[in-house]
Amino acid sequence: MGLTELYSLPQRVRTAENSSVERRVPEAEPELWFRLRRFNSNGADLNRGFPDAFAALRQQNVEPEVRAVIDWLKTETFVLSANLHGGALVASYPYDNSNGGKPSAIRVSAPPAGSQLTVSSVSAGPELVGRASITPDDDVFVHLAKVYSYSHAWMSRGDMCKENRPFQDGIINGYQWYPLQGGMQDFNYVWAQCLELTLELSCCKFPPPEELPALWMDNKKALLAYIQQVHLGVKGRVFDGSGVPVENAVVEVGGRQDLCPFRTNQYGEYYRLLLPGNYTFTVTTTNTNSLFFKVSENLHLL
Ligand SMILES: [Zn+2]
Repeated sequence: MGLTELYSLPQRVRTAENSSVERRVPEAEPELWFRLRRFNSNGADLNRGFPDAFAALRQQNVEPEVRAVIDWLKTETFVLSANLHGGALVASYPYDNSNGGKPSAIRVSAPPAGSQLTVSSVSAGPELVGRASITPDDDVFVHLAKVYSYSHAWMSRGDMCKENRPFQDGIINGYQWYPLQGGMQDFNYVWAQCLELTLELSCCKFPPPEELPALWMDNKKALLAYIQQVHLGVKGRVFDGSGVPVENAVVEVGGRQDLCPFRTNQYGEYYRLLLPGNYTFTVTTTNTNSLFFKVSENLHLL
């Protein structure tokens, strides 16, 4: 979306844009279009090359493109993201992987900013529900995926691509569709607390250039509606008694045990995408001070 086009959009969208920052990566797998294949010049599939919390963090020797994304995630607080694909018409949401129902699943430690990814303890993994691998924020992910599919020209119909199974509401849990290891959306969510969808936008995996204008029109409303979801839920800042922002405070929402907890950034800011409802927040600082507060349906402090 060019800036000119952005500024011809309705005020409410500009407001959402102006109070948040949007970053775009034009093409993560450059060979995709030049050679119609999805591997980089090392023959690696980048969207299978991220460290995977469910696979004991194998893939530690990551490709440079993957390393760049991982390092980038440490420099900014990303809240919401999407990666755009072709080959189906569906909004897919995490997890893409699971521990496969083994009796002991991997639990991941909370790495302080800038430290290495580590696996510190083991406990039962509750993510497998039926044939899906469900995150603690599943209600939010389903909402985000439906915002996209129902704002898209056709996606919510779920049956537009003959070679794919029908997708109810045009959405699917990634693992339920097909399990995969080392994907970017699981990494972003587990390690960077950035809620990411994989948006499959065309039945044809490599749509010809002349189809791009129509594809843009099919997706424009959905992309804008999705961007606006960055303001869903609760955001705030944590200060100490003398008014200094607290970095690395853990901000937990009751009933949502994330593999890696949400933490405040260097400005003391936290962002929790949540649907309307009543929530109990627990904020814990490194001095083991805990603060509890509740948020009501209309997002007022109780
Ligand atoms: Zn894909």
